[in-house]
Amino acid sequence: MKKVPRIVVVGAGIAGIGAASELRDAGFSDVTILEATGEIGGRIGKYQLGKAWIDTGAQYIHGTSETNPVYCLSKKFGILDNVPKEEGRWSILSEKGSRVDEDFAERVYGAGEMLIRKRYQDHQRSIGEHFVEEVQKLTANWEASTEEKRLMDGILSMVGKDLLIDTGASDLKSVSLGSWKYFHADTDGDLNIEGNMFDLPSKLLKEFPDESLLLKKPVRKIEWDGSFRTGNGEQHPVRVEFGDEEEILADHVVVTISLGCLKAQASTLFSPQLPEHKLQAIDCVRFGTLTKIFLVYEEAFWDDDVSEISLLWEDESPVSLDADPAQWVKHLHFFSVMKPKEKFGNVLIGWCAGRVGELTETMKEEDLLAAITEHLRAFTRNPSLPPPKSMFRTQWYSNPFTRGAYTYLPVGTDAEVMDTLALPLSGTKATKPDLQLLFAGEATMKSLYSTVQGALLSGQREAQRLAQHYGKVASPASHCSLSPQHQGEPLQPQTVL
Ligand SMILES: Cc1cc2nc3c(=O)[nH]c(=O)nc-3n(C[C@H](O)[C@H](O)[C@H](O)COP(=O)(O)OP(=O)(O)OC[C@H]3O[C@@H](n4cnc5c(N)ncnc54)[C@H](O)[C@@H]3O)c2cc1C
Repeated sequence: MKKVPRIVVVGAGIAGIGAASELRDAGFSDVTILEATGEIGGRIGKYQLGKAWIDTGAQYIHGTSETNPVYCLSKKFGILDNVPKEEGRWSILSEKGSRVDEDFAERVYGAGEMLIRKRYQDHQRSIGEHFVEEVQKLTANWEASTEEKRLMDGILSMVGKDLLIDTGASDLKSVSLGSWKYFHADTDGDLNIEGNMFDLPSKLLKEFPDESLLLKKPVRKIEWDGSFRTGNGEQHPVRVEFGDEEEILADHVVVTISLGCLKAQASTLFSPQLPEHKLQAIDCVRFGTLTKIFLVYEEAFWDDDVSEISLLWEDESPVSLDADPAQWVKHLHFFSVMKPKEKFGNVLIGWCAGRVGELTETMKEEDLLAAITEHLRAFTRNPSLPPPKSMFRTQWYSNPFTRGAYTYLPVGTDAEVMDTLALPLSGTKATKPDLQLLFAGEATMKSLYSTVQGALLSGQREAQRLAQHYGKVASPASHCSLSPQHQGEPLQPQTVL
């Protein structure tokens, strides 16, 4: 009788969930998910703040086209039904109390964004260098009063600092200009679904058998290229050790742990060690971080129609943008307002990237609260602005099962290296590729890394790779018009070590 392939998926983030559910849909009956924490979702995390649940990780759908599986699925599952339809106003508070005309700010901000959000090809140059050069030209050619020119520098600095939030990096001079060279065009435009994203993993995993999802089971060792025998004599090439000395023998393991975890554990998690090309790829791509600070106020100090608040330092220059921990408050410059107010109350989210993110998630809570309050008092020109009544901050960098927020590309690294991260590995004893180890997760998608849809599609890609391997027909991915292959991520040739 033909053996049923036994498949283990390591990690119940959206990549692991995408892989496991797609494998089941393709007819694989023996699929087990091992998740280190007590929750599914990974970086789509949730936390109960007062009466409402909030998203501690992803909250924006990047791209609202029908080709984005996260958008399609969110629509299908009714997740978007509770999302406010109206976008609010952007409010800018200046440090020196100057009134900042929002139309002017939007024009300058838009022009600044155009300078950096392109699919440049050059990965040997940094986005920071490019930005500085282009910003100088932009400012020189912009017709504006002296007062407006002074504000321009501050507004363009905000563009740079917002890009640090988007990359999780500490310094734009370390980020490759060619970061989005292969990026999927349909990611433009964001839909904020804060407080709803966490529904996606559970909805996707609804049909998956409970007994095959093992929570609080950190995987400690993956022995592969071996020959392990079960009690009833079946032989498998991979042995996965997890939890308290438990084990599963498997034919295929889909590894979906974050790049941060791979960086920390790649040399000890696998036995034999991963091949050099894989280790090098893990080493050269970077893993940035982002901290979200939720501030709960008794009363709002912003107007009802405001959805975003930016703090503008008039003496700041885009020429020297570095998330320097000594200047960390300058990098707590952006707050989004949680909406609707009836559901969440008066809650702001402050965003800090890179080394400032690391600092704000580890510093004493009372020091953080005091500094934020002082900061906001100065910008609102209200010395008696009450402090928030409570605060919650995320700690993705300190979390041993995440170790940061998302992947970015350093100068000198072409995103093609992500194809190497995605390459499956086969055993040396097999006469043809046997796909013992497969790799998914946002860091393995050069056209969509750092996003939820990238992670989801990467899991589905690996499920389809296995389906092809066994001559099965995988169901159309995600009920969406695009499958992972169409998203510009062809299934890699299957390699033997
Ligand atoms: C603060 C923040 C904000 C973000 N905002 C957005 C956004 O607005 N829009 C967007 O598209 N993306 C956003 N992202 C990125 C997005 O959340 C990720 O790209 C995506 O969720 C990654 O999914 P994944 O499955 O690849 O990895 P993960 O979600 O990290 O899943 C990996 C899983 O593996 C588990 N694991 C780790 N080690 C082990 C082990 N040894 N054994 C067993 N299990 C293990 C982890 O616990 C985790 O559940 C954000 C991320 C963060 C942190």
